[in-house]
Amino acid sequence: MRSSQTNASTGAAGRAFAPGDAGPEAAERKERIREEARSLGFGAVGFASASEAPYAERLRTWLAAGRHGTMRWMARDPARRSDPRAVLAGARTVISVTVPYYRGDWPENGEPGSPEATAQAPRGRIARYAWGRDYHKRIRRKMKLLARSIAALNPDARWLAYVDTGPLLDRAWAERSGVGWIGKNTNVIVQGRGSWTFLGEILTDLEIEPDQPARNHCGTCARCIAACPTGAIVGPYELDARRCISYLTIEHRGAIPLELRPAIGTRIFGCDDCQEVCPWNRFAVKTVDPDFAERPEQQTPELIPLLSLDEDGFRARYQGTAIARAKRAGFARNVAVALGNLGDRRSIGALAVALAQDPEPVVRGHAAWAIGRIGGQAARVALGEAAGREISREVLAEIHTALDSCSDAASTSLMEGDSRP
Ligand code: SF4
Repeated sequence: MRSSQTNASTGAAGRAFAPGDAGPEAAERKERIREEARSLGFGAVGFASASEAPYAERLRTWLAAGRHGTMRWMARDPARRSDPRAVLAGARTVISVTVPYYRGDWPENGEPGSPEATAQAPRGRIARYAWGRDYHKRIRRKMKLLARSIAALNPDARWLAYVDTGPLLDRAWAERSGVGWIGKNTNVIVQGRGSWTFLGEILTDLEIEPDQPARNHCGTCARCIAACPTGAIVGPYELDARRCISYLTIEHRGAIPLELRPAIGTRIFGCDDCQEVCPWNRFAVKTVDPDFAERPEQQTPELIPLLSLDEDGFRARYQGTAIARAKRAGFARNVAVALGNLGDRRSIGALAVALAQDPEPVVRGHAAWAIGRIGGQAARVALGEAAGREISREVLAEIHTALDSCSDAASTSLMEGDSRP
């Protein structure tokens, strides 16, 4: 996401530097930018020379293997992704920054699936980065302020600022600029602070002395690879996004592959498992930045009310949050999967309503899957009725698969002596 571009002076005091200045002046301007970044609340700050992007070749291989799934925007304009000078002509420096967002432990009701949570209404789990308001706007505002301090060093300096979705390989630049290394889970880990952090970059034509690239400290650890519920970390530093729960629940539109749905558990927006187990995250410090204050209803929300949100209801609840990115249909699809995985028969009524009335086939289809996974007589009735009125072929296929799984579950129950309806 491009934030802004300027060559206007802010009128701030200080000696002006020419873009190509080197030597003591370059070191001085670096310290001034670093101080300014810290005063604005950025965590780590690092500098790298703008040249061909690190890991550009690895990106090409990853894309060629189709591991980006349906995120076609990642494959767009590879020349710009590979070299920041194709993004900002004359760019000399990439400034990488981090913005920590760690907010402490999950709430008391927080481990969905735990006995305490199960006794209450069914709840889902939302990734930590989405616990508060949309971070893009907050970070973009800070980045603009930082960029203005660069403009104060030289009124002719040109810059572009990006948060998260720009054409730069943000993790690669964070590593090269010394901010943190890319761990085996493919997240950037800041030494002594962990990986609960957003990344941002400022490209500028100012010459600034580069920092040393970050050293990798994963060592022999492989916890993240073992912890990934869907096996998406197919090897050290190798993520297959098509299996990643964050991709499946946020970026992916359409049906979630049947074989991956059970492993999604109660995660309805993103997944943090590969970071939760990372030993470096023991050092995370809770941010007090009010911009990232959590909203309890955005951590482990009750699932059933979410299933019936229409477009207006979804917008009213999630506009201005990262969750809006999943769109209403994708989010309701995820909610249905979580309800199916919880297996709580109290949710069959709400799922049956979604199966009958939701305008989106993808939601109806996943509601059918969830009902089949919960099973029982009420599930068979709901699915049977839906089979008689559904016109979408893809939803009908889901209904018949769900009916089959109900039958399988019923025969297993009978064999085990379970006489529940
Ligand atoms: Fe590296 Fe271990 Fe963290 Fe994975 S869990 S990123 S291997 S330190």
